[in-house]
Amino acid sequence: MNTFISIVKESFIDLIFPTICIHCENRCENSNEVFCYRCQILQKPTDHHLHKKNEFTHHFYGRVNIHTGASLYYYNPGGIIHSVLEQIKYRGQQQWALRLGNYYADFLKQSVHFQNIDIITAVPLHPSKQALRGYNQSAVFATGLSDKMEVPCNFGILRKIRKDSSQTDKSRIERINNIFNSFEFNSKINIKGKHILLADDVLTTGATLEACIIELMKGSPSSISLVCIAMGKN
Ligand SMILES: [Zn+2]
Repeated sequence: MNTFISIVKESFIDLIFPTICIHCENRCENSNEVFCYRCQILQKPTDHHLHKKNEFTHHFYGRVNIHTGASLYYYNPGGIIHSVLEQIKYRGQQQWALRLGNYYADFLKQSVHFQNIDIITAVPLHPSKQALRGYNQSAVFATGLSDKMEVPCNFGILRKIRKDSSQTDKSRIERINNIFNSFEFNSKINIKGKHILLADDVLTTGATLEACIIELMKGSPSSISLVCIAMGKN
């Protein structure tokens, strides 16, 4: 009976406040979805979470040790997910990052490779950038994961200590060195023996996540897994 009441209640809420597609703003068929039926056909999720080694984890092979990793979507310049990420980062749509986290949590909970996670954290923004934007989109995505996976999140584990400067005048080596000196592990937080899930918005070269992993290793976690909203397709 309680289940029946909750279904009726959910249907009623959906009727009054329908779930809107984060791309085209049409109505979603199901309140758990992020895209309407049409956009789901155009932007399908990856199956990375089903494979411990996959196209995402391949980025880190021979660089750093990770347990597993997965990207929810592939990213095409000018495509649906590109536009969604722009809205999240530059147009204040942090709720969309939360919904994407909730949505991906349902996939990760079903995967044997994402069990026994102890703490979820996110790639930090420099405090001045976060103050300007008002939120860290990766941390909002991680909060969405945390809520549905019922795993605590902690966004104080890593700190961004160096601002991203305009790097157009720097050589590639200087740019990479800049990234690797940008993050700091907060040794006041105990992550020893814990399985950490580190979230980011987009995987491009992997250098940012690699720099964060190197810092996290200073706390002797048992393992580190990675997750992001989108990655480029090779
Ligand atoms: Zn749509």
